[in-house]
Order: sequence, then structure tokens, then C-alpha cells
Amino acid sequence: MVEHLQKHPEGMKHKCEETMRWVVLYLDGELSNADEQRLLKILTECSSCFEKYNIEKEFKTFLTKKFEKKGCADSLKKEIKDQIHRLSGNA
Ligand SMILES: [Zn+2]
Repeated sequence: MVEHLQKHPEGMKHKCEETMRWVVLYLDGELSNADEQRLLKILTECSSCFEKYNIEKEFKTFLTKKFEKKGCADSLKKEIKDQIHRLSGNA
């Protein structure tokens, strides 16, 4: 997955659907610093990606808050996380 990211020229050309996979990784804290910078550059240049990023981020924040209150089991967290990956990634 990381090799895949490096194929993208900085900011300029990108596929919006693929950017969403970066976003998911980013929100999970799984991007390297360099990839993070590239993603943030795309988000500042592409309003479509930025919009999707915000939706994704808010959804994740919402889930996190929900989990904190209810104290869900880790297995359920993982299940929902996998679903997010499916929805925003290679559906
Ligand atoms: Zn885009």
C-alpha cells in the first residue's frame, strides 16, 4: 500500500477515489510523514477530496465518541473499521 502512494506525483495528478484510501490510512495514523504531507497537499488543492476527507474525519470522530461512551469491545471496533475501509477503499 505504501509503494502505491509513492507512484503519485506530488499534489498535481491524482485519482480522487484513491485519495480516499490515503485518507483512511491517515486517520488511522498509518501514513508516513512524507505520505502525510502529500495527502495534505492534495487536500488543499482538490475540493472534492477535501470534502470527502471532512466527511470521513467527522464519521470517524463520531464513531470514536460513540465507542468512548459505550465502551465497545475491540472486536466490534475492528469490524466497523473494516467496514469503513471497504466503503471508502476498494469496494
Ligand atoms: Zn481529488
